Amino acid sequence: MISVEEALGKILDFIDILEEEEKPLLDCLGQVLAEDVYAPFDVPPQDNSAMDGYAVRAGSIEGASYEHSKVLRVIGEVAAGTVAKVKVEPGTSVRIMTGAPLPQGADVVVPFEATDEVDRKRFSLSEAEIGICCSLPEGSNIRRGGEDIVEGELVMKQGRLLGPTELGVLASLGKGKVRVIRRPVVGVLATGDEVLDINQPLLPGKIYNSNTYSLAAQVLSFGGIPRLLGIAPDNVGQLSVALRRGLDCDMLITSGGVSLGDYDVVKQVLAAEGDISFWTVRMKPGKPLAFGTFKRNSGKRVPHLGLPGNPVSSMITFEVFARPAILKMMGKRNLTRPTITATMEDLIENNDGRRIFARVLISSREGSYFASLTGPQGSGILTSMAKASGLAIIPETTKEVKPGTTVEVMMLDWDKAQDS
Ligand code: AMP
Ligand code: MG
Repeated sequence: MISVEEALGKILDFIDILEEEEKPLLDCLGQVLAEDVYAPFDVPPQDNSAMDGYAVRAGSIEGASYEHSKVLRVIGEVAAGTVAKVKVEPGTSVRIMTGAPLPQGADVVVPFEATDEVDRKRFSLSEAEIGICCSLPEGSNIRRGGEDIVEGELVMKQGRLLGPTELGVLASLGKGKVRVIRRPVVGVLATGDEVLDINQPLLPGKIYNSNTYSLAAQVLSFGGIPRLLGIAPDNVGQLSVALRRGLDCDMLITSGGVSLGDYDVVKQVLAAEGDISFWTVRMKPGKPLAFGTFKRNSGKRVPHLGLPGNPVSSMITFEVFARPAILKMMGKRNLTRPTITATMEDLIENNDGRRIFARVLISSREGSYFASLTGPQGSGILTSMAKASGLAIIPETTKEVKPGTTVEVMMLDWDKAQDS
């Protein structure tokens, strides 16, 4: 048996970062930038108004107040998206809207509220003039060109994970397409004579294939593209054919067929067509686990992760081993989930020196986290995984966790934690 770290190390050693692709901006959400992006111009491109009001010269309104307003001539109007044709001279003003470029000569914007515009409208006074009711220092209510980004600046470095804000920043630079590390295609194959497709009627002795759905959804949620390879029976020939259909994937994931009773099926195929790196990991659930590489005709090898068939085991081993592999392929740097410390509310016993990943629901009371087991921890009880917001990690050397003890919890779903 090998440790979780050793197993993960062996998998990640084999995994390479994938190639780049160029795609429309919105399609790049969640991917890693593969180029350095420099600003082709200032953002904002020019000085513009931060308020609806009047663009004036600070010198024209010196000493203005509500009692003694300064009356200026209105020589034009400028809306967002247009450019004023007039120049603001002392004693004049231009009516301006938020986002409109500052007219030449103006150095301050006086918001409508600090003018007599409303009164002028109400009393049908001339709108060719405007009374300014306050004095403002130069630069007030102006957004300076380049105040966000300066032309030529390195705005985003290669390796940056693109979230909604990054996409917004790239759009502000007019980048319609960007170069990113591509998403991996992950083949998902279920194995087992008893496993039935969800569109078939349930027959005696059979169960529905849940693993394909939970695993493919994990692939999707971590940024990969799942390729469903169906269900292979416990038969070397058919399993081999099914796996071969996924040879052009970046990674293959099978579920089932690796426990003592029947592991020979997956093992035999790997032995014939690839090689096996390891078989058992010191963890619970998920002890039986295969990692190998499967040979393509080109000679290039595809990593194959043989997960156990039990629905909870397959999901947890996916979390621990396949998730970091997918993230690494995508060029991501942070491969680990965030962990918190929480007070365990139930008893957990650890009798055989393996690392336990216990399904827990996290609640927060008076600024502290508490973890309670989501129910019986059998590795076939998938609803207990569905209720979990995290996995409490019980070290190999800890024989017993008594209620009230502090544990480390790897967080899977913060929303679930907050719902509770
Ligand atoms: P195995 O690892 O093949 O021995 O399977 C362990 C347990 O998981 C058995 O009870 C299987 O019936 C169950 N199992 C295997 N594959 C699936 C699957 N795709 N969906 C749901 N349960 C499965
Ligand atoms: Mg099986």
